[in-house]
Order: sequence, then structure tokens, then C-alpha cells
Amino acid sequence: MVRNCDKNGEPMDKRQLLERFFGYSRFRPGQEELIDGVLAGRDVFGIMPTGGGKSMCYQIPALKLPGITLVISPLISLMRDQVLALKTAGVPAAYINSTLNGAQMQAVYRNLLAGQYKIVYVAPERLDYGGFGSIAERIPISFVAVDEAHCISQWGQDFRPSYLRILNFIDSLPVRPVVGAYTATATKQVREDVERILRLQDPVRKVTGFDRPNLFFEVIRPEKKDDELLRLLAGRKRKSGIVYCATRKKVESVCELLQDNGYVATRYHAGLTEEERSANQEDFLYDRKTVMVATNAFGMGIDKSNVSFVIHYNMPKSIEAYYQEAGRAGRDGSDADCVLLFSNGDVHTARFLINNSSDNEELDPQQQEIVRQQDMARLEAMTGYCKTSHCLRGYILEYFGQKHPEICGSCGTCRGDFEARDITREAQMILSCVKRIRDRLGYDVGMTLIIRTLQGSRDKRVLEKGLQELTTYGLMKHTGSSEIRMLSDHLEMDGYLLTDQEDQTVRLTANAGQVLYHGKQVQILVRKEPKEKLPAAAQKLSGQETELLDVLKDLRGELAKEAGVPAYVIFSNATLMDMARKQPKNMTEFRKVSGVGEIKAAWYGTAFLKRIQKFRDENT
Ligand code: ADP
Ligand code: MG
Ligand code: ZN
Repeated sequence: MVRNCDKNGEPMDKRQLLERFFGYSRFRPGQEELIDGVLAGRDVFGIMPTGGGKSMCYQIPALKLPGITLVISPLISLMRDQVLALKTAGVPAAYINSTLNGAQMQAVYRNLLAGQYKIVYVAPERLDYGGFGSIAERIPISFVAVDEAHCISQWGQDFRPSYLRILNFIDSLPVRPVVGAYTATATKQVREDVERILRLQDPVRKVTGFDRPNLFFEVIRPEKKDDELLRLLAGRKRKSGIVYCATRKKVESVCELLQDNGYVATRYHAGLTEEERSANQEDFLYDRKTVMVATNAFGMGIDKSNVSFVIHYNMPKSIEAYYQEAGRAGRDGSDADCVLLFSNGDVHTARFLINNSSDNEELDPQQQEIVRQQDMARLEAMTGYCKTSHCLRGYILEYFGQKHPEICGSCGTCRGDFEARDITREAQMILSCVKRIRDRLGYDVGMTLIIRTLQGSRDKRVLEKGLQELTTYGLMKHTGSSEIRMLSDHLEMDGYLLTDQEDQTVRLTANAGQVLYHGKQVQILVRKEPKEKLPAAAQKLSGQETELLDVLKDLRGELAKEAGVPAYVIFSNATLMDMARKQPKNMTEFRKVSGVGEIKAAWYGTAFLKRIQKFRDENT
């Protein structure tokens, strides 16, 4: 049985559970609110980016609630990995999907009725299938968590008709459980669909920011993609990354290209045998192969934290898909690059794939047509990303309906050497001064007079025209003339001011009202001060620590092999890095490593401590 009480038999609070089972000391943004909601008996709806930590939002309540938590998840491989990870962390869990044979299924049902599990993952198509419906009536289900909840929406990119059965299933239960929905897809339509179709009751909604500040975005239009790819990789030797291609054929040829050029690359697509796919995936997860060349079949549920670049050899079909795939880079928060190699041919390929898609066999022709049109609209938005001359990060955030500065300072458009500076206040002062002067005089004047007025100058022309009586007089008395001129040049470039070419007078454009009255932000690029970024610096390991990291990874590999689980199920790379840095000497110190929970410490602590001790002995 799960040990979710402390020494005195008191139930643990959510923070203690996070510490004990998962080894983390702090919640990520949004997690606490969503957990609290469930524990208070409320439905919840969590929208967090990939890697944001959605699983924790239902796994922690599951540990605290009486009875069983059902997790509905569309991906069989993901289910298996999550259940493995839970078991490794000491949580009794199981899954029910088509990979179980009759005897295994019966065993799971038996244990389920005997109250042996806290968390059970169920594939949606199993909900009203065979025995599960009748079993479900006989077990105390306190909480149903719908993961990847966007699959319920026809407007989403991964519509799964079987998700529509979830509501029937919930309705069929003797007592309605708390229902939670979790997704990374945030478009308005999808959100509405999720709430409506699942009939969430006054849910606690939590949308965390979608920005991933450690990711650098870039779009390149190369003459020859192969050459450009080799150039990009040459600058990233020894780093781990993914190259996504649109088709299986392309995966084959690109993987060969990389191998011919001395890269340790492997491949993944749906045309390979199950054995080869899982072997190649393991090679990549274990860092035996550093580059994975794959179609979009690869990656869902891959929690590899040291992916430092994701290169798209072809443009994906939607921004949702792109952000999800690119988002697999830098999950542990370290700097990572997302590069898209664009050519017009990609648009044709994507159109072809949409028109010949076979994903939607469960739909009738009318539904198919709706989905196709949606796909085309999404493709359009994706193409817009490749062609935009604006900030790439801004484009993505805009698509997901999130506010953002006009310039991020860290994408191909904004370039890395520059950073954004908000000049909204200064812009309002300048624009409103232009307006006041015009209102007072009835005609436009030149920039020099505007600047003098703003600076509160006693200049004869200012006084003659009575401009010292304006409320904007002297508003910028501490700002130099050249600075104000620089700012007004920017306002002109951004289309808020217009200089008359004949007489050099300056006036407002129609857009200026946005800044003056509607709070629109104005940003400019300024060259970045060379400054140490603390988190990045903290992540860097010394030479010796890096050596130790390799040793720890080897040990993790051995243990994983022994246990028959993927390496990251034992400890993530982020955890091993922290271990290499802290070099714990005893169990107490070992428990302080981020990602080391109580159960994992008990199972693996001695092995790691010994190996660290040995390393220290050999290196001092
Ligand atoms: P999502 O489903 O939102 O994409 P996951 O649930 O797979 O994200 O979590 C991504 C990673 O973040 C996992 O390795 C998980 O262990 C880790 N994680 C989750 N919550 C925390 C936390 N509070 N502190 C540190 N790491 C966390
Ligand atoms: Mg997830
Ligand atoms: Zn940008």
C-alpha cells in the first residue's frame, strides 16, 4: 500500500508528497492551484506548456485522495512509461490498454477490485469496452484526470473520437468523481470544447504562460538544406538533438547523410519495426546516439532533459505541432535552439499530407471536411511563422492568445545580441506632446520645437507660442535631445509619427491613439549588456563534474538495464547533473539532490553514493 503518511501517521501534505515520491522541493507555476482545486473537490482545467509538469497536477492529488484516480491518456507508450516511473517512485499504479493480454487484464482487474492501486491509466477506447465499465461501478473512483484533453476537440490537431466517450463513462458511475482536464493546447475554441464536452462544473482554471524563455527560435531559408543542416550540426558536436523531417523517406536520407558525415545519428518513424523503434529510441535516451532523425511519430512523452537543439528539416503542419516538437528542447531550463529550415516545397508537402491524411478514419465525410479545413487554416498560420518579419516568439505567443512584448531579443528576428526595452512611457509623452502642440496652435511643428517643449526649455520660440503652458511641458526634462530624437525616430519607424517630407513638420498617425489611449506597448531593441545569466551559469558543470556526470550516467544505464526500464525513469539528466555538482557523501545529502525521492533514495542511493565515493578517491 502507498505510504502517504508521515512518522506520526498524519496524512502528508502536498509538499511532503512532492518531496517524498518525486524528490522535488518546489512546485512549478500553476501546479499548486490545480492540486488544491482537486483536493477541495472542484473540477480543474490546467493549460500548461509541454514540460510544464502537468502529470504532477493529478498524481499528487491521487496520492492524497481516498480511492482510485483514473488517468485517461491517448498514448499507449506514454502510459507505460508513466506507470513505470510511478512504480519506480513507489506509487502503486497500473494501466489498461490493448497491449495487455487477457490474463494480464484479469490480473489488473483483480488487483483493482482488491484496492491495490492508487493510480490507473486507461485508454479512452477501453472505457466502455469489455469488462472495465462493470468493474468501474464497483471501485471507489474519486478523481478522473483527462490528460491531453485537447484530443476531445475536433478543432484540435489530435482529435480522438474515443475521447467523446469520456462523458458517458463519467455519467455511468454511481458517484460523479472530480474531473480534471490537462492540455498544452490553448486556443480558445479548444478550451471551450474541452469544458463543454467534458461538462466541467465551475472548474478552477489555470493557464500558465506559454513562453519558454530559454529557447532561441530561428527560421532559415537555405539554398541547400543538407548543407545548412551539416553547418548547423558542425557547431553542435557532442550535443544531443532531434532533427524532424516531414516524411519517412526524408528521415532515411537525412539519417544517412548525417551518418556519412560522421555523426552518431539514429532514426525513428512509423515504418520501422516496433523493435527497431524502441531500440533507436533507447539509444537516443541513453545518449548512445546523439542525434535522432525522426518524423512527428517521435517524441510524445519523451522526457529527455538534455535535448539542446531541435531542427526542423521541413515545416510542420501547424504551430501547435511545431511548438510541441520544438519544445522538446531545453526541458530542464538550459539554453537550447529551435531552428526551422524552410522552403516553399514544404508548403506543398504539408498540403499533400493534409489532403491524404488517414488519421481520421473514424469520422464521417462531413466531419472529415471540417477537419481538413481546420488543418488548412493551421497550415496557413504555420506558413506565416516562416515568412514573418516580426519577432518569432511573439508570433507563437500571439497564436496561443498570450500577450507578449513586440520584441523578445532572443529569436532569429530580434537577434541574440539585442534586447527589448520598453519605451511605452516615453512614447506616450512624446506623442501626447505632439498632439497638445497641434491642438493649441492648429498646425504642426518640427521635431526640434517638440523636443524643446518636452525638455521644458526657456527657448524664445517655445515661450512665444505659449507652449510652456502645456501639461506636457518639461515632462522629459532629464532626457537628452539626442535620446528623444532617437525615440521619436523609432516611433516613426513603428508608424506612430509621420514627418512631412516638404516642410519637416511632425504629426501623429491614426495608430498613435493605440499607444495614447489603449495601453499599447512600444518596444525598441538595444544592444544587450554583456551580463552573466545566473541560471545558465549555475547549470554549467566544471570539467571534473562533467567527468563524474558521465560516470553517473553509466551507473544509471546499468541500473536501468537491470530493472528493465528506460534510464530517465531512474533519474533524469537534470537530477544527475545536480548530483555531480553536490557530490553527496551520505544518504542525508543524497536526499537533498533535486529529483531524489524517498523510495528512489532507498533503492538506488547506496549504488550512487559508492560510485561517487570511488570517483572522489580516484580523483584526489
Ligand atoms: P507535461 O506533461 O506538462 O509536458 P511532465 O508532467 O511530463 O510535463 O513533466 C515534465 C518534467 O518536469 C518531468 O521530468 C517532471 O518530473 C518534472 N517536474 C514536474 N514537476 C516538477 C517540479 N515541481 N519540480 C521539478 N521538476 C518537476
Ligand atoms: Mg504530459
Ligand atoms: Zn523575437
